[in-house]
Amino acid sequence: MERIVILGAGESGAGAAVLAKKQGFDVFVSDLSEIKSEYKNLLNRYNIPYEEKNHSEELILNAKEVIKSPGISDKAPLIQKIKEKAIPVISEIEFASRYTRAKLICITGSNGKTTTTMLIYHLLKKAGLNVGLAGNVGNSFAFQVAEENYDYYVIELSSFQLDGMYRFKANIAILLNITPDHLDRYDYKMQNYIDSKLRILQNQTEEDAFIYWLDDPMISKEIKKIQPTVNLYPFSKEKKIDAKAYTENNKIIINTPNGIFTMEEELVALTGTHNLYNSLAAGIAAKLLDIKNETIRESLSDFKGVEHRLEKVARVKGVEYINDSKATNVNSCWYALQSMKKQTVLIIGGTDKGNDYSEIESLIKEKCRALIFLGKDNSKLHAFFDGKIDLIEEAESMQEAVTKAYRIAQKGDVVLLSPCCASFDLFENYEDRGRQFKENVCKL
Ligand code: ADP
Repeated sequence: MERIVILGAGESGAGAAVLAKKQGFDVFVSDLSEIKSEYKNLLNRYNIPYEEKNHSEELILNAKEVIKSPGISDKAPLIQKIKEKAIPVISEIEFASRYTRAKLICITGSNGKTTTTMLIYHLLKKAGLNVGLAGNVGNSFAFQVAEENYDYYVIELSSFQLDGMYRFKANIAILLNITPDHLDRYDYKMQNYIDSKLRILQNQTEEDAFIYWLDDPMISKEIKKIQPTVNLYPFSKEKKIDAKAYTENNKIIINTPNGIFTMEEELVALTGTHNLYNSLAAGIAAKLLDIKNETIRESLSDFKGVEHRLEKVARVKGVEYINDSKATNVNSCWYALQSMKKQTVLIIGGTDKGNDYSEIESLIKEKCRALIFLGKDNSKLHAFFDGKIDLIEEAESMQEAVTKAYRIAQKGDVVLLSPCCASFDLFENYEDRGRQFKENVCKL
């Protein structure tokens, strides 16, 4: 029996283990941290051997193939040893794709992945298709391939997953945008990160579709370099020669071989320019799957959005509170600020990932009444913003941040949590940060 070793027993690893077991491999799971009890139960249920808080090299380096969790860096000493032995290291998505014939709609980009993935899933569900939701959202792709029988999968792909993908082919691939993020995992070289994102179109042929943002200079440059044979479906805010989807006279227009779709922009549920892009990308995918115009229109107008993404929390004494905790990089905060129509008290800060705040400097000067730095170490924020904004406060907990924002905000203002940073200094994760924000707002 061929041996497959799975490193990391989270959602993707545990799912991969189940699929590998069902496919008759000799499976072993190893996790350097403690494994969550729900995944331990799953592994036990399928009689899959595992270890936690340890990597036993003698049980790992004899694998024929290793499936690595996207959370584990390529630089980890164990991964280096595995690579020295020339054992292939792949992602759960690559592995699972070998065992399904379903049509795969895959979404990547620096920002907007989850929103667009959920929107496309919503569209396909409404159209009555037998569809699974996978990747960074929902259940693991591998687990669903093992246990379900879907005809379609909508899959959110991070660059870390793409790094472990080689023969995988997306039927419809979407690349929303590329802006600097996660550079710590890419030797601080932007091109490495770009190359990773572009892997989403590798292996695509003239039978497939590649949807991308035409106005993104990095993507356009790469497309010219690669000259892919896949059918290209670029979208843009405005009508342009190559754009297959755009807006004109306040209408969305999508043009594919399956006909034209149009819709009044104001009927689209998601607001903000960034969400217009997400809606255009989702609309092209839906059209390519030959979903009826009527269904597309209904789905784009009744989509509820996703928690922690420009989520309206409450209005307290004439001040609106918005939770954008998922804005973990500068670009997503830029879009959040850009869509603010009122004076804003911005809560910003956390674990800095090499941010360049000059990108949001002018928007902050234009729109922000005050900044509240919420982080353990706010020195970089101070160094950049001190002297540029009149009112700057610090907070060491969400409660303190919300209370200070409440005191500062004036009637008609917005209090926006859009931190530009990861959350791990003070919170478990961005969901925890967003939930704490909402709880504290509701206590005001
Ligand atoms: P991801 O899954 O790529 O992190 P999300 O849909 O979770 O993306 O959104 C993350 C953040 O990025 C949110 O703050 C959201 O407001 C912002 N955002 C969403 N779509 C886009 C886009 N197309 N371009 C830039 N920012 C976006």
